[in-house]
Amino acid sequence: MAKTTRIAVVPSPGFTHLVPIVEFSKRFLELHPNFRVTCIIPSLGSHTDSTKSYLQTLPSNIDSIFLPPINKEDLPQGAYAGILIQKTVTLSLPAIRDTLKSITSTEPLAALIADAFAFETLALAQEFNSLSYIYSPTSVMATSLSLYLPKLDKEVSGEYRDHKSPIYLPGCVPVFGHDLPAPTQNRSSDMYKHYLERSIGCSKANGFIVNSFLELESASIKALAKEKSNFDFYTVGPITQKTSSTNDVKELECLRWLDKQPRCSVLYVSFGSGGTLSQKAITELALGLELSGQRFLWVLRAPSDSAFGAYLDNKRNGEDPLKFLPDGFLERTKEKGLVVPGWAPQVQILSHHSVVGFLSHCGWNSVLESMQVGVPLITWPLFAEQRMNAVLLVEVLKVAVRLNAREDGVVEKEEISNVIKCLMEKEEGTVMRKRIENLKVYAADAINKDSGSSTHALSQLATKWENFSGI
Ligand code: UDP
Repeated sequence: MAKTTRIAVVPSPGFTHLVPIVEFSKRFLELHPNFRVTCIIPSLGSHTDSTKSYLQTLPSNIDSIFLPPINKEDLPQGAYAGILIQKTVTLSLPAIRDTLKSITSTEPLAALIADAFAFETLALAQEFNSLSYIYSPTSVMATSLSLYLPKLDKEVSGEYRDHKSPIYLPGCVPVFGHDLPAPTQNRSSDMYKHYLERSIGCSKANGFIVNSFLELESASIKALAKEKSNFDFYTVGPITQKTSSTNDVKELECLRWLDKQPRCSVLYVSFGSGGTLSQKAITELALGLELSGQRFLWVLRAPSDSAFGAYLDNKRNGEDPLKFLPDGFLERTKEKGLVVPGWAPQVQILSHHSVVGFLSHCGWNSVLESMQVGVPLITWPLFAEQRMNAVLLVEVLKVAVRLNAREDGVVEKEEISNVIKCLMEKEEGTVMRKRIENLKVYAADAINKDSGSSTHALSQLATKWENFSGI
């Protein structure tokens, strides 16, 4: 019988932290079936239906282990989602250690791969004599920031957002402080403290596995590999979900609605798995869509004053979001638009022939999914590293149009309408579509089974892990 090599992956809580690392595992096992993966899942509360139905689809060589939910009362009340996620992992460390103990009682563990929020498990890798990696489900550019943050923290004084000149990360386009991830916007906040702590913690890994690809961010990856030569870097993407769940009647309905729309006529509007807008922003977006006169499919959530309001736990999850739309909006736009409450099968929607643009919060999965089907974007970043992703899309790759928001995060209806028209009617949009069509080809090449750069990186990892005999 062929020898099996065991690795473990540790996502942090939340569907969008689980999916990337599991999709990475699936992709890795497709190419290297002589491995077995144990997915150790910390949890903040009960798992959502999407998490459960997703885990039911895993191949048999991935064992998923749900850790007991932590006691919510042990979490800081009212803290930012990132802090809650990170603290949940801290509180789950004893259970993670027990699981690793049980795995390694019968066979060695070659590698432990953790999500950045689960960086504290890297110390456990050492304890169990295995290699350790951070799986970075985002761009090389955002990964670079995380690696250079301790240096920036020492060298830059004052708030990053107040600096007149941009910040230079090796091999990346210069980025202004206000476009850095949300936790860096207030350096005296707990959010920043945790982000810095995460950055320092992640740099204890043996290497970084990044869900990007060489052809997309070659300058950044080369600069990282050169300047941070104490780590191994592997770009293994684009790794995205092949399909999203479509058993739901409402989800099927929206695909049927798309079937009835003309080719290349619909703007898809979505803010990821948990992005939320304020009531004012929802109203302006509705009016902007209407004013543009274009067809649209909008995945809508109930409003929240926090941009990541529905990410972990939205008290309004049960409320009908449609009641927050302006009076008469649904009636006035019924010939041109469809508003879907809560969730829609994004992967199928983006690849539908009627979809021609994507107004997105620029979560990295959404960015990659759009790229893989050649759909240009409109950027409306909300939180996390989404502003940096928007900079990459608009300034480096030039496949997206930026929406300019007011100070309070609201984008006015005229701006929304103008930007939509620019993408959907003007020459600028056509040029962007051509550019992203090229990226689509590069993205497919990167994961080509025989010659892809990302396939090659995964083979390098497999060889390293197979030959690993302890630290
Ligand atoms: N997604 C989906 N339907 C929705 C909203 C999101 O299938 O209605 C999926 C989307 O295809 C992507 C993920 O959820 O794979 C969102 O990830 P992303 O990184 O874009 O944003 P996040 O949710 O992390 O903010």
